Amino acid sequence: MAITTSLDGKTAVITGSNSGIGLGIAREMARAGADVVLNSFTDNDEDHALAAGLAKEFGVTARYIQADMSKADQCRGLIEKAGRCDILINNAGIQHVAPVEEFPTEKWDAIIAINLNSAFHTIAAALPMMRKAGWGRVINIASAHGLTASPYKSAYIAAKHGIVGLTKTVGLETAEDPITSNAICPGYVLTPLVEAQIPDQMKTHNMGRDEVVRDVMLARQPSKEFATVEQMGGTAVFLCSDAAAQITGTTISVDGGWTAL
Ligand code: NAD
Repeated sequence: MAITTSLDGKTAVITGSNSGIGLGIAREMARAGADVVLNSFTDNDEDHALAAGLAKEFGVTARYIQADMSKADQCRGLIEKAGRCDILINNAGIQHVAPVEEFPTEKWDAIIAINLNSAFHTIAAALPMMRKAGWGRVINIASAHGLTASPYKSAYIAAKHGIVGLTKTVGLETAEDPITSNAICPGYVLTPLVEAQIPDQMKTHNMGRDEVVRDVMLARQPSKEFATVEQMGGTAVFLCSDAAAQITGTTISVDGGWTAL
């Protein structure tokens, strides 16, 4: 059988995709021919313009659907409104950096809700559609922090370890179906999420910006380079290809060697 990476005729729903890695993955999905559903909790003209831009550039159908991934009913509602979901990318995520004794409970709850619980709800809503369609791909954006830990990121690390466990479980529950479930574990990618944590890291580590980037962030990555959103998108397209049909219940690290150390 010829191996294909074309996603013509598939619909990809990408949570948290008006920025950063999610938008990068949406672009690569559209480039591969998939219709795409973009999402975030906002509902601005700019959000809808992003979808219109992808439709124009790649000749696919692209929609923006507002839904707050911290709310169970809105997670499930996103999949229902999409109407079809062959490829589900759970990407929405937030971060907060603080020592565990000072970690605000509301930040803990929000991180667990958006970074972990949302994936449970979207997967539960999407699996019946995938089973009916006879094909499906679940891709959860975990993190190198889903496989390792760092100080001051307790909620994020707990959520990312949790999503790796959820990924494996869904892989086993769908193993006999033409559905796969995998997690991508990025190292550092210079997105708004990472930019926003630099001032907190400067405070908690008592360092300047350049030292935080070099000694806290890139020190973890033997490549000494940030990964890119295009590389995350390309990895997601690969996981949707025929070549990856037997890859399930596992994690793919795109981290410049971080987890090999
Ligand atoms: P980002 O801030 O650019 O993107 C986060 C996205 O999530 C945005 O589109 C945002 O609107 C959306 N979002 C936030 N709260 C939401 C909510 N309540 N409902 C719906 N959408 C919501 O950051 P990013 O770096 O692109 O992060 C994307 C994913 O990649 C996250 O899950 C993050 O944990 C993961 N990740 C990022 C890195 C990195 O270095 N950037 C590394 C590993 C993993």
